[in-house]
Parts: sequence; structure tokens; C-alpha cells
Amino acid sequence: MGPMKTVVRDQALYEAKSGKLIKDGFADYREVEAYVKHHYLALPVVDNAGKAWVLDDGPIYCLHGSQYELLNDQRVHLSRCPDCGGMGIRADEFVVESDCIRCTQCGHEFDARLEMMET
Ligand SMILES: [Zn+2]
Repeated sequence: MGPMKTVVRDQALYEAKSGKLIKDGFADYREVEAYVKHHYLALPVVDNAGKAWVLDDGPIYCLHGSQYELLNDQRVHLSRCPDCGGMGIRADEFVVESDCIRCTQCGHEFDARLEMMET
């Protein structure tokens, strides 16, 4: 079991699946992040501008630093764009060996393996 997936609405934190309120009255997003860090919770992934990643009309969660999951716990192969922090998806038109990832936001293409070696 990974951390509980949450969503933020109107300065309040909810369980993403049940919609149950976890805590409200946050002053800003930073406070939410601090709270989530100290509990076993996961926030939707956002890019560098604070815009949430969306795949299949749902938020994306990053678990264990590098594993991305949909709300229904299905694992997805995604990478974070080094330029804008946007969602990078595998570019299917390229040969599989290249492991090329394309950012859905800015169109930047990068190699997921290079990114892994750096971290
Ligand atoms: Zn990008």
C-alpha cells in the first residue's frame, strides 16, 4: 500500500477516492505541502508553474520518488520534463531502445535513462 492519494480544493485537503475531508483551513499550497510531508499522503503531481498533470482526465501521483500512478493505482510510464516540470510521455513513434520521452507541455524530448543516471 502506498500513501493515500489526495486532492486539494478550496484550501482543503480531501481523500481523492472517497472525497472525504482530511483537513481544511490551509492558508496556502505551501501549508498543504508541509502537512502532506508529515503524514502518509500523496499530492497530485504539478509542473513548475503549479499546474497539475492530467492523464485520462485524472491526476497523477508520484510515489517513492520515481514511480507514477493514476488514481486507480495503475502504474504509468511517465517522466518529469527537466525544462518545465511538465508531464513527459514515451514517444511511441520512436524505436523502443531510444526510450525517448516527450513533454506534453512544451514538446521537449529527453531520454528517460539519462535522467535516471543523473539522480
Ligand atoms: Zn516541458
